Amino acid sequence: MSKKFFRIAVELVISICLIVAVYIWTSGKDESVWPDDRVAAKSPYRQVMGTFARVVAVGMDSRMTKACIEMAFEELQRVDNLMSDYKPDSQISKVNRDAFRQPVLVSEPVFEVLRRSVEFSKKTAGAFDVTVGPLVDLWRLAGEREAVPSEKELAEARAKVGYEKLILNEEAKMVSFAVEGMRLDLGGIAKGYAIDMAIEAMQRGGAIGGMVDVGGDIRCFGAPPEEKEKWAIGLQDPGTQEEDFAGGPLVLVLKLIDEAVATSGGYRRFVLIGETAYSHIVDPGTSYAAEGLSSVTVIAKSAMDADALATAVSVMGPEKGLALIEQIPDAEAILITPGPEFEQLYTAGAEKYVR
Ligand code: AMP
Ligand code: MG
Repeated sequence: MSKKFFRIAVELVISICLIVAVYIWTSGKDESVWPDDRVAAKSPYRQVMGTFARVVAVGMDSRMTKACIEMAFEELQRVDNLMSDYKPDSQISKVNRDAFRQPVLVSEPVFEVLRRSVEFSKKTAGAFDVTVGPLVDLWRLAGEREAVPSEKELAEARAKVGYEKLILNEEAKMVSFAVEGMRLDLGGIAKGYAIDMAIEAMQRGGAIGGMVDVGGDIRCFGAPPEEKEKWAIGLQDPGTQEEDFAGGPLVLVLKLIDEAVATSGGYRRFVLIGETAYSHIVDPGTSYAAEGLSSVTVIAKSAMDADALATAVSVMGPEKGLALIEQIPDAEAILITPGPEFEQLYTAGAEKYVR
C-alpha cells in the first residue's frame, strides 16, 4: 500500500471518530415563528474534506431545498480542491512546492483565508498558525516511528514555522515563503471557511434555513426543520471510547439560531507514542503537542471564526483561552478539562446556548 494511500486511509478512519458535535434530528416541539408549511431536505453523510459532511436545507418547496443541498456540497468540494494540502494540484500544494523559490499567485478565496489566518495568529499570540505544517508532519512521522522527535528534529522543524515568515502581497495576491521548507496546513481553518461558503450558497439559492456539518463543525441559519424553533446541536462526551460518529453519548445540547460551532479535541485525534497520546494540534511555541484540555468548543457567528478559535484555544489552555474568547464579541466557549475530571468551563455568555 502506498504511503499516501495509507495516510489518507488513516485520516479517514480517524475522522470517523472525530465527529464531536452532532445535529440532532428530533428535539421537542417549540413555538415556532417560522412558516408551518415549510419543508426540509436532509442529505445523508457524504465524504468530503477527508471527513463526513451533511447538509439540511429548509424552504417552501422541495425542489429548491434539494438544489440547495447540491449547491452546498459543490462549495465544500470547491474549497477542498483549492485548500487541501493532500491534493497535489490544489493551490495550497502549489504554494507549498514553489513559494520559497518564487511568489505564487493564488485565487481570492485562498488569499482571504491566509490573510484571516495571519489575523488569528496575531490575535492569539501565535497559538494559531497555518505555517505549523513542518511540526505537524514531524509529529505524524513520530507516530509512525513510535518515537518522540529529537530536540534537533524539533528545532529544525520549528525554524520553518512562523506566520511572520509567510509573505502575503495584498495587491498582487501572491504568496511567498521567507524560509525554505515551510509548509502551510489549513487543517485548523479550511473546514470553517468551507462551511461558511456552503451556507452562503444555500442562502443565495433561496433556503429560509439550513445547516452544514463537516466533521462535527457546524453552522446553522434561519428556520430549523419541522416544528422546531432552534437548531439542536449535541456535543459528544470526550471521555467516551465510542466510535459511533452519529450516536455517542452527549455531554450537553446547544440550541442555536444563526450560529456556528466548532470543536477541537486532542482526545480522539492523536498519535500514540508509548503510553502517551500526542494531539494533532501542535503548540508552535513549544513545538510539542497541545495539552491541557480534552475538548474545546467555540460558538461564533461564522464557522471560520469558530474553527480557528477552537484550534487556538486548544493550544492556549484554559486560562488564556477563556480570556481570549471573553474579549471577542459574539463568541463563547465551552472547554472540557482532561480526564478523569472532565470539568466543564464556560465563558460568561455560553450558558444561554445550553438547553
Ligand atoms: P482542528 O481540528 O480544527 O482543531 O484543526 C486541527 C488541525 O489544524 C491539525 O490536524 C493540523 O492540520 C492543524 N494544526 C495543528 N496545530 C495547529 C496550530 N497551532 N494552528 C493552526 N493549525 C494547526
Ligand atoms: Mg479548527
